Amino acid sequence: MKVAVVGAGWAGIAAATALIDAGHTVSVLEMAPQPGGRARSVAGPDAARPYDNGQHILIGAYRDSLALMRRLGVDPQAVLQRLPLALPYPGEPGLRLPPGPALISFTRGVLAHGGWPLTARLALLAAATGWLARGFRCDDRLTVATLCAGLPGVVKRDLIEPLCVAALNTPAPQASARVFLRVLKDALFSGPGSADLLLPRQPLSELLAAPAAAWLGPRLRLGERVQRIEPGWRVDGEAFDAVVLACTSVEAARLTASIAPDWSATAGAFAFQPIITVYLHSPGSALPAPMLALREGPQAPAQFVFDHGQLGGTPGRFAFVVSGAAPWVERGGCAEAVLAQAVQALTWATPPVIDKVLTEKRATFACTPGLARPSARVAPGLWAAGDYVDGPYPATLEGAVRSGLAAAQGVDGGVKGANGAASGSPTNAP
Ligand SMILES: Cc1cc2nc3c(=O)[nH]c(=O)nc-3n(C[C@H](O)[C@H](O)[C@H](O)COP(=O)(O)OP(=O)(O)OC[C@H]3O[C@@H](n4cnc5c(N)ncnc54)[C@H](O)[C@@H]3O)c2cc1C
Repeated sequence: MKVAVVGAGWAGIAAATALIDAGHTVSVLEMAPQPGGRARSVAGPDAARPYDNGQHILIGAYRDSLALMRRLGVDPQAVLQRLPLALPYPGEPGLRLPPGPALISFTRGVLAHGGWPLTARLALLAAATGWLARGFRCDDRLTVATLCAGLPGVVKRDLIEPLCVAALNTPAPQASARVFLRVLKDALFSGPGSADLLLPRQPLSELLAAPAAAWLGPRLRLGERVQRIEPGWRVDGEAFDAVVLACTSVEAARLTASIAPDWSATAGAFAFQPIITVYLHSPGSALPAPMLALREGPQAPAQFVFDHGQLGGTPGRFAFVVSGAAPWVERGGCAEAVLAQAVQALTWATPPVIDKVLTEKRATFACTPGLARPSARVAPGLWAAGDYVDGPYPATLEGAVRSGLAAAQGVDGGVKGANGAASGSPTNAP
């Protein structure tokens, strides 16, 4: 089959790779001058030291992303720093999970937390036992704040709220408890090392986008914004047997408005949450760890800081992450507030200065309770891939990759079905 993949983010790269491996002829049409979508590098004044379009963290449970990297010739061990899950705060060791089987590791880590009273540690273990007993499932209408309402304040402040905003990019009072529990389950219980943090040691584009561009060669067509798709299928007039829409939800909604109005309406209905990344520069400075959690407050926007010097990157470069940043986009002054927070919370060898500020207004969809997400299948021969497509995860790299693989399987299943090789179904319905 001749297949068009629209968009070369991680979802489009995953779909294209799987389709090519299945023997199809693929063209990837990407409107930007580079692949990678939201997970890419951004040029700075020094070409050798690009910025990431927002600091990204992977975890050990991102198995499909890691497998895709390997497929494209990237050694995850070389480009990612693996650290056991730890949430140290400045001057406080915080929660650390020791190595070992998930349950034992979590229990030992919580019990050993020196900063929480014993009652708080036991309350968290009791709550986690309840979540485990219920298979990490809950009512779809619950928010994370409601799910965790009974937990002690220090546990919510130091663990639940930062984890929730980091994983779902949505503050706990608005975030879906069902998705949060699913992330916890996969992080804690999908095999050894699944909770480990994997921090990029290379510019973000080197993790997947640049190797994918080299692997795809002329099959990747940059600078081509798809304007129109017609049933049959024609993409801006060019004929294809199938199409994978791996663009953003907004663009997918536009392109499908007349083809599949209901699907388009669902894809077009998302609310978004911004992420602001503030890079500070302070020559000679280093954090006590490559990544620290920070206490967010009315005047303190950032929840995490990363020391790029300790991650094989530019020494003296520090990435402060402000997730769920809608209030700061509205009120302005985020970078100055981050600078003040940094000076107040951390020790510096030289006074930090604001180096670069990256604001992604539509960083991810707001992951709220009961959210309707569109299906992967749009119409026969037309599939969608992207972090917003229906699935168990919030908007993440792993969600994007898995949806790309699912869309490729859908296209491939359609061929096999049409050939009588699979279920014999004449359509490519999943
Ligand atoms: C600042 C920030 C921090 C993040 N941190 C993390 C993190 O720590 N961990 C994590 O797992 N996830 C994180 N994410 C989320 C992660 O980046 C996304 O979930 C993932 O990159 C989405 O990939 P995608 O392929 O679905 O979409 P995208 O990356 O948005 O790719 C869509 C592509 O389609 C192209 N396109 C759009 N319209 C058209 C058109 N009409 N024609 C052709 N091409 C088109 C776009 O240019 C783009 O390249 C973060 C996101 C941001 C913004």
